[in-house]
Amino acid sequence: MAGKYDYDLFVIGAGSGGVRASRIAAGYGAKVAVAEEYRVGGTCVIRGCVPKKLFVYASHFSEDFEEAAGFGWTVGETSFDWKTLVTNKDKEIDRLNGIYIRNLEKAGVEIIASRAVLKDRHTVHLAGEHRDVTADKILIATGAAPFLPDIPGIEHAITSNEAFHLEELPKRVVVIGGGYIAVEFAGIFNGLGVETVQLYRGSLFMRGFDDDLRDLLAEEMRKKGVDLRMNCDIVEIARKDGELRLKLTDGDLIKTDCVMYATGRNPNTTDLGLEAAGIKLGKAGEIIVDKYSKTSIDNIYAVGDVTDRANLTPVAIREGHAFADTVFGDKPIAVDHSVIPTAIFSQPEMGTVGLTEADARDRYDEVDIYKTAFRPLKATLSGSREMIMMKLVVDPKSDKVLGVHLMGPSSGELIQAVGIAVTLGATKAQFDATIAVHPTAAEELVTLKDKWQAPVVKAAD
Ligand code: NDP
Repeated sequence: MAGKYDYDLFVIGAGSGGVRASRIAAGYGAKVAVAEEYRVGGTCVIRGCVPKKLFVYASHFSEDFEEAAGFGWTVGETSFDWKTLVTNKDKEIDRLNGIYIRNLEKAGVEIIASRAVLKDRHTVHLAGEHRDVTADKILIATGAAPFLPDIPGIEHAITSNEAFHLEELPKRVVVIGGGYIAVEFAGIFNGLGVETVQLYRGSLFMRGFDDDLRDLLAEEMRKKGVDLRMNCDIVEIARKDGELRLKLTDGDLIKTDCVMYATGRNPNTTDLGLEAAGIKLGKAGEIIVDKYSKTSIDNIYAVGDVTDRANLTPVAIREGHAFADTVFGDKPIAVDHSVIPTAIFSQPEMGTVGLTEADARDRYDEVDIYKTAFRPLKATLSGSREMIMMKLVVDPKSDKVLGVHLMGPSSGELIQAVGIAVTLGATKAQFDATIAVHPTAAEELVTLKDKWQAPVVKAAD
């Protein structure tokens, strides 16, 4: 293929979405190149999901060692070496990076290590190589980057990008934000023995998640030792006497060694030449696309976080695949974003799919709630005080399970399987007809019999 252009498809960004789209399009016979200015693999592989999960594993051991005693184990004196963890993590990331490169090469995709900027709707300038190339179709898959608010001293702060490469593990840390990254890193630092403070500007963190889970996560994180402060933010950061001093909105002052911002991510759309090509952006700087990921320009598409639809790796992969099927495979596929199972690797872990109770109450006249919170069997000997929570949100008219919200060990693994049932539109009766697996915590999902009733509050005399 290729014809009058150098390439049939030029992809900007070799992250999850860009790599999948490149490989599938090449598989359909397209001549494909992908440009990447940093490392092939993107945020998820290089400085996101994968290294984060390795850090979460590392941070769990402190608790595991303690819990082993109740089962008869004596664990000798333990110590933790940050450099070993970082080195081993880097080795694994290098290995994955190599696999991504080899898979692209095997698929016949040309990898160009350069920043790529649009010159017009068919021309891309390769800044690192001082040359232009042309393509029939262009896919923008440049992801997103951490956002930091503009406050005095912000230059002293790090983001998750730097947290993966800290020279030393700080003794004290303050994490700002109340989303996925903030809770995950607060858990990591706390588990590794760092004195951890987490600040969230609103009244309860994890906005958008089910309220019961949000409440319980706050309680559990505090039990584990995180100094979690809501309605609190930083006004100013100053470095003095080798430490950081944070002035807070509530007038308090915190001294710490490291400040990590996890206050959201902005789509990577600046200085990409999008204006030159006439591509329309939304309010947050995201590329506006239709259901086939097509931008306002006919031959230019965008997938993944740069479109700010659902900023999750598997969604970007699905969008990239659907784009290639649609444009090069003659199989138009619009990704369904309505039911997305997701895991938050907080401690305790959470898994969630479908509507929260609050969302369901907004959309339906009536909603039935089934929920339970309990200490698992393991806790009887381990002594852990950590609670597990399971909650089903059900539409009583159709009996359909609208949402499932889980907290506890392996909730991420569990929600993947439960996500199948919810995606298929399973009813509560079908959950109940499923034979329980005993003894597991998950059996609660198919044995929850009683609807939850709001406690009756009597008016005071
Ligand atoms: P989120 O959008 O999830 O959360 C951002 C948090 O920062 C919110 O609590 C927000 O508060 C707060 N915030 C925003 N602006 C400010 C500000 N100016 N000052 C103080 N606080 C502020 O972003 P994350 O950075 O946590 O994660 C980015 C994306 O990465 C997420 O959308 C998620 O999809 C993805 N991700 C997924 C993971 C997973 O699947 N396990 C893991 C990590 C990331 P408020 O609620 O008030 O707006």
